[in-house]
Order: sequence, then structure tokens, then C-alpha cells
Amino acid sequence: MTKHIVVVGSLNMDLVVRTARYPLPGETIIGSDFNTFPGGKGSNQAVAAARLGGRVKMIGRVGADVYGDTLLQTVTRSGVDTSFIRRDAQAATGIALITVDTSGQNTIVVAQGANARLTPEDVSAAEEAFNGASVLLIQLESPLPSVARAIELARKHGAQVVLNPAPAQVVEAAFLSGVDYLIPNQNELASLTGIPSVPEAVSVLRSWGVQRAIVTLGGEGVLLVDADQEVHLPAHRVQVVDTTAAGDAFVGAFTVALNEGLPIRPAAAWANAAGALAVTRAGAQPSLPTRAELDLFLRKIINKGGE
Ligand code: ADP
Repeated sequence: MTKHIVVVGSLNMDLVVRTARYPLPGETIIGSDFNTFPGGKGSNQAVAAARLGGRVKMIGRVGADVYGDTLLQTVTRSGVDTSFIRRDAQAATGIALITVDTSGQNTIVVAQGANARLTPEDVSAAEEAFNGASVLLIQLESPLPSVARAIELARKHGAQVVLNPAPAQVVEAAFLSGVDYLIPNQNELASLTGIPSVPEAVSVLRSWGVQRAIVTLGGEGVLLVDADQEVHLPAHRVQVVDTTAAGDAFVGAFTVALNEGLPIRPAAAWANAAGALAVTRAGAQPSLPTRAELDLFLRKIINKGGE
């Protein structure tokens, strides 16, 4: 039986309303259509990995409310084992309150709710999930002590650690020492290192002892960095509809490839295709490709004589 992936991270319900303009303080205006979408970086990446054929167990917290019910249902339906996600009677499920105006600009207010109450003890209580895992996938949308505990348990059980340091923030260099693969986008890399230039920021990562990093560069593809090489993989040329969750698709796919034993370069090439497919479709979780869709996309590229 193939090994599995553990994701420790956030689950949010995204509440999205469209508006012609933004209200001034104290003003009420009438918006247009309202939709709810499952989200949160943890659950997006867990779903991305499961759709691509990964066996995924997720550790997290949701409230004992309707959004919690919906998130557990949708994530389970995508094939993720949610039995290690706790229900919290004291806090609401995390939400992101999103407004989108007619130019496509948005404002987002996140109320972390139950996500902020994921404790290191919760992670330890779910240690069974790490048994037989080959990869731990984490982000920075959960409390850092809990993320650190997850890294400790991964090391104890011999699992590799993939960290997507999102949302962008500063963490201590020592925190990164337990990470095998760091996957930041350009923003996150700049926040981590305090340096906007990618080559200079990569040098800083090296000086901190980061062994392997994959910097996602949006429409420019990815930069792979390991002990003895820096390789640029250009992005696939696709019709861009919505770039939401491109990074989640990339990180989920990379983790599945690692779980199947691929080395960094072919794993990143596979993930580069998953990221490209995600930008051809609207939304976060709805845009995440299945394995069959990714296989078909890659077959078409090979038939055209591409990479
Ligand atoms: P994030 O969504 O975290 O900001 P990026 O924008 O860097 O992450 O995108 C992640 C990956 O998705 C890229 O490295 C690339 O593989 C793919 N991708 C993103 N934007 C495009 C694009 N316009 N065309 C093709 N692939 C893209």
C-alpha cells in the first residue's frame, strides 16, 4: 500500500459578495451575488493532493456549526480522511469575509476562529495519523507552536516535511531547519528573508541552511534550489481565467509526487503543470485538477512536442 500524506492546517469558509464599490466607514450599500466557498490553505492543499490521487489525512479544527459541517463534508467528498479534524464547541469555524469589486479587486478579512485554537496537544493527540506517513505538508495559517509540533512528529516517524510559508510572514530561521522542502511564492520569500530580489533572498535561505526550496513565480514558472543547483522551469502557456489557488494546486501536487517517490525536479515539473491547470479555471477548490485531468493535460503537451 502506498504511504500517505499528513496535512496540518486551516479550514475556512470563504464568504464572497460582489459590490460595485466599497462602502465608506458607517455606510451601508447594496451588493450583488453572494456565494460561499470552502477554503483555507490547509484544506485547499489537502483537497489538491487528494484529487491528484494522494492518500491524505488532515489534522485541524472547525467549529460545531453549519460551516464546520459543510467543510467536513466537502473535504471528505474530495477523498481526504477528516477523522483527525476536531470540532470545537467554543469557537466558530474560520471564515474569510471577501468583497470583490467590478474591477476584480478584493478586500479580505479573516476571522480564524477554531483554526487559531489548534494546539500542539491537538497535534500530539493525532500522532496516530503520522504512522506510516511519508510526507507532512504544512502552512503558516495555524499557530506556530502547533506547526512546530507537527514537524517534530514528522521527524520522529521518518516523514519528509514540506512547508508552504503562507500567509507571508517572518519566522525564525531555526524554525526552517526541520523543513525538507520550502515552497514560497515571491511575496512569501520576500517576507521570510526581508529581501525582495529572488536571487539574493535565495542566498539568504542557503545561509540559513535551507536544503531545498522551490520558489513559485506565477506566470514565470518556478525556481528549484538545492545543494548544488538552481534550475528554472518556465510556466506552461495557458489561458488564464483566475489565479486563485494556483499555489495550493502546485504545493498539493508536489507533495503527491514526493509521496510517490519522485525526486525534486520531476516532482516540481508535475506540480508546474497542476498550477497551470488551476489558473485556467475559476475559484479555489473547484479549480483544483484531478489526476485524470492532469494526465490528459500532460499527454496533450507531449503530443504537441513540448516538455
Ligand atoms: P500563489 O498562488 O501562491 O501566489 P504562484 O502565483 O506563484 O503561487 O503560482 C503557483 C504556480 O502555479 C506557478 O509556479 C506555476 O506553476 C503556476 N501558475 C501560476 N500562474 C500561472 C500562469 N499565469 N500560467 C501558467 N502557470 C501558472
